[in-house]
Amino acid sequence: MENGLILLVEDEAQMLRFLRITIKGHGYRLIEAETAKDGLMQAAMRNPDAILLDLGLPDMDGIEVIKQLRGWSDASVIVISAREQEEDKIKALDMGADDYLTKPFSAGELLARIRVAFRHKATAAQGQHIFTVYDMKVDLSTRQVYIKDEEIHLTPIEYNLLTVLIKNAGKVVTHSHLLKEVWGVNYANQTQYLRVYMAQLRRKLESNPARPKFLVNEPAIGYRLKLT
Ligand code: CA
Repeated sequence: MENGLILLVEDEAQMLRFLRITIKGHGYRLIEAETAKDGLMQAAMRNPDAILLDLGLPDMDGIEVIKQLRGWSDASVIVISAREQEEDKIKALDMGADDYLTKPFSAGELLARIRVAFRHKATAAQGQHIFTVYDMKVDLSTRQVYIKDEEIHLTPIEYNLLTVLIKNAGKVVTHSHLLKEVWGVNYANQTQYLRVYMAQLRRKLESNPARPKFLVNEPAIGYRLKLT
């Protein structure tokens, strides 16, 4: 999505400068807000494609901003947080944020996340049913999974787990989100189920299950189906 409109909500001058240079330097249009209140107003007035949101804002908790946004905005929300805010990251994702970046991060990481956010908006609109990454091809209409054109048999749970990751391809998905989607709301804390089934999926789909290429772990948060 070229010329996509990004809303940046961040109060730290140095961070703001770095983000401004990176985002504008890559052809995106940018609007800025330094408070949560202004951010919410800009989001409502300008309808951005993606929102980069600092969790530590002077006037309101970033989690609360996401909660309010999700009532009426379909923009991709990428949370920016400090490393010690691990708990907050999970809350933010469960509240409806699409992804997060941990400070400090590189321009390359930021741009990769923005590309995923924009690609996601585009593919969601197209409703594609063939998904490919590395050697894996998944036909979502027939529920068939192939590695190098050889069909791989997955159990229903393995397949459902894989499709939740595919729906969110490129983005982090929290443990509780995966558990609720695949096993149901009463299983949101059963992370050992996930460990077992992710290990099985990797054995079937990854060429080296010990060093997965695309079924990657996000320590303490969840899993990510990594695109290239
Ligand atoms: Ca801040």
